[in-house]
Amino acid sequence: MSLQTELQNFGCTVLCDEPMSRHTSFRIGGKAKYVIIPGNEAALLSAIRLLKENSFPYLILGNGSNVLFADEDYEGAVIQLADGLTELRLEDENTIYCAAGVILAKLCTFALDNSLTGLEFAHGIPGSVGGAVFMNAGAYGGEIKDCIHSVRHLTPDGEVLETPASELHFTYRHTSFTENGHLVLGARFRLKKGDKTAIRERMNELIQKRKTSQPLEYPSAGSTFKRPAVGYAAAHIDECGLKGCTVGGAGVSTKHAGFVINHGNATAADVKALMKQIQETVLQQHDVLLEPEVVMLP
Ligand SMILES: Cc1cc2nc3c(=O)[nH]c(=O)nc-3n(C[C@H](O)[C@H](O)[C@H](O)COP(=O)(O)OP(=O)(O)OC[C@H]3O[C@@H](n4cnc5c(N)ncnc54)[C@H](O)[C@@H]3O)c2cc1C
Repeated sequence: MSLQTELQNFGCTVLCDEPMSRHTSFRIGGKAKYVIIPGNEAALLSAIRLLKENSFPYLILGNGSNVLFADEDYEGAVIQLADGLTELRLEDENTIYCAAGVILAKLCTFALDNSLTGLEFAHGIPGSVGGAVFMNAGAYGGEIKDCIHSVRHLTPDGEVLETPASELHFTYRHTSFTENGHLVLGARFRLKKGDKTAIRERMNELIQKRKTSQPLEYPSAGSTFKRPAVGYAAAHIDECGLKGCTVGGAGVSTKHAGFVINHGNATAADVKALMKQIQETVLQQHDVLLEPEVVMLP
């Protein structure tokens, strides 16, 4: 039986020779041999076991909103969790269990429907819950770590563990998972009871802020660089006169200097070259080293 058939028998959707530009918010990337979308957690665990048994390389993608996928074709499998692992349930009046593949906006709407406050900041972040937990996503003064009670994750040995948030070393855009490569399966969110109207208004207010300040009309991966020790990446880039600067189809947004955008035909090579130019200029003029927030895959 072929690998593809076995994966399908487990309950995975399998796309062959699939352009990764279709699976990333940057709309950039060469073809992957397979894109595997597991229909549930059991299908995911079986797929990983099979790929390991066959020494078939693979990597994990959430919703592809914080990655720059290489231009070269990838002779491995991309396991995409968004649209696959979608379990979402209220466990008690303050606790939500949410699987890794649920899109943050859906989790936030679920919290709103249950009058639970704490996740308003996350509503406009276009990632999956797994991706957000993996790198401790945050915005407007909130971070995922603030409302996580525990995380279920898969070790490289195939063991499923549940670890309390206090043991996961959450810091700015960093967790244990960014170090150990464990796969986030899902998380328990502990939230507070709140006023539905106030929650909805705060979500709408923050979405509006994004629309006015971010170049949402262009493909991108959000903030290209992490916040440096001194100041803000966008301010450094702007003050160095780099707004509007381009390499091939990639450009520094004129609306928000922290975003590298795809003008339509950008390659990963264009984005990397532009990022290098930005880093060198900011280092030279401001003595600040900008560290990429965007993850380069594979
Ligand atoms: C317009 C725009 C605005 C944005 N605004 C914000 C913002 O305000 N704040 C912010 O923090 N980010 C922001 N981002 C970036 C991005 O949405 C977040 O980083 C998000 O958390 C990434 O989630 P994802 O599912 O898309 O992860 P992906 O991009 O798919 O993956 C990112 C990394 O996480 C790993 N990963 C994904 N899922 C899992 C998992 N289940 N287990 C283990 N590893 C996993 C991948 O292997 C990869 O290394 C923005 C992006 C865009 C395009």
